[in-house]
Amino acid sequence: MIFTCTNCEGNMVYSPEKKVMFCPYCESQGSQEKRHVNVGNLTKFCPNCGGEIAIGEHDSAMQCPYCDNYIIQDARIEEPFKPDYVVPFKMGKETMKKRFKEHFRKFRFAPTDFLTETRLNSIQGWYVPFWFYDYDTRCTLKGEGTKVRSWTNGNMSYTETSYYDVARIIDIPYNKIPADASVQMPDDVMDLMEPYNYQEMETFQPEFLSGFHGEKYNMTAETLGGRAREKMEKSAKEYLRSTCAGYASFSKNQETVDITGSKISYGLLPVWRYLYEYNGKEYPFYVNGQTGKIVGTAPISKKKVCAYSITFGALVTLLLGILNLYAMLS
Ligand SMILES: [Zn+2]
Ligand SMILES: [Zn+2]
Repeated sequence: MIFTCTNCEGNMVYSPEKKVMFCPYCESQGSQEKRHVNVGNLTKFCPNCGGEIAIGEHDSAMQCPYCDNYIIQDARIEEPFKPDYVVPFKMGKETMKKRFKEHFRKFRFAPTDFLTETRLNSIQGWYVPFWFYDYDTRCTLKGEGTKVRSWTNGNMSYTETSYYDVARIIDIPYNKIPADASVQMPDDVMDLMEPYNYQEMETFQPEFLSGFHGEKYNMTAETLGGRAREKMEKSAKEYLRSTCAGYASFSKNQETVDITGSKISYGLLPVWRYLYEYNGKEYPFYVNGQTGKIVGTAPISKKKVCAYSITFGALVTLLLGILNLYAMLS
């Protein structure tokens, strides 16, 4: 599927800033038609220019390297891969490039070409597949808590320890605990992309994919259920313990989190990715496409560190010279 401008036949893309379909060629908004071309199950040839495109095993949306049109693979956004939801990109490529420059501006040891226009143009927006887990839980924490009271009377000091049977039984509902369903996206980094604001979640429409890269889920909801449950249990236990913070000491004898109901949904979350290569090593950066949160460490240019040391060395020599002069005068 390709979205074509009804005005000039250019490729319509979703504009995160304008929140509408936009034609970068004639700048018209909102007017578009879908162009469907079915070549077997998946389109291996660009429906616009006929060029052969490389489709990754799980790719659902990509850009044609010849004519730059964004192509959406129908079979990978239809059942059983049809997403329920999408959090649309809120920051476009130009905004993202600016954000990168601002974020790393003060990082003086980064290689010279780290923030050049040419390098930053390789930033790609990805819709990453996620499973979302809703849980209804009954959380129980039981144990013994103590409270200590001390006072003095005359020359005597007193300490009174009171013992309490503590029981907390709380029903906590959890909504949309995310777990990324993409093999190529590192789990720990995807966890760091959180939080996303789900208030801005939309019902999935293929239009959102135009202008970006996308993947269908390539890990099942069952495989990732354990990760989501772990996150939920960790948070539930932290909450239960926080309700016992008023005791001087607490020793638990029961701590359980029971799931009383659950629901799973599937959706796409926006992530910008910048793969920077330096000295044969890849430095990946990931940015939450909704909030702009950046995760990644910039490489260090040894040349720049050396140059800095030399300047710093020169400064030290100069200071020593002044000190010597001062010693001679006094
Ligand atoms: Zn147009
Ligand atoms: Zn093409």
